[in-house]
Amino acid sequence: MLLTTPKFDNITHCPQCMEDLRSEPIPKHLRKHYGSHTHFSKLIGIEFPELYDGVSFWQCPFCKTVWDRWTGRKLTAKEYARMCKREKRRT
Ligand SMILES: [Zn+2]
Repeated sequence: MLLTTPKFDNITHCPQCMEDLRSEPIPKHLRKHYGSHTHFSKLIGIEFPELYDGVSFWQCPFCKTVWDRWTGRKLTAKEYARMCKREKRRT
């Protein structure tokens, strides 16, 4: 399952291509819901519901790099394909 999410872990620039991942500024009256964040994010949150209830990986919309939300480790295209395949088998 793919979705765009305004939540992000203080990532303002892609670690791979260095593109600015900040989107629109969060309206002041909504900021209390987003912790210390001041901008929405262009990051794509990737969820594997069987693995974890929430975002497990981030994907850069510019260079398509996928990395682990918790460890920051980059996934190779092969690893990512394997994750998707495993998810499909379960559902
Ligand atoms: Zn990137």
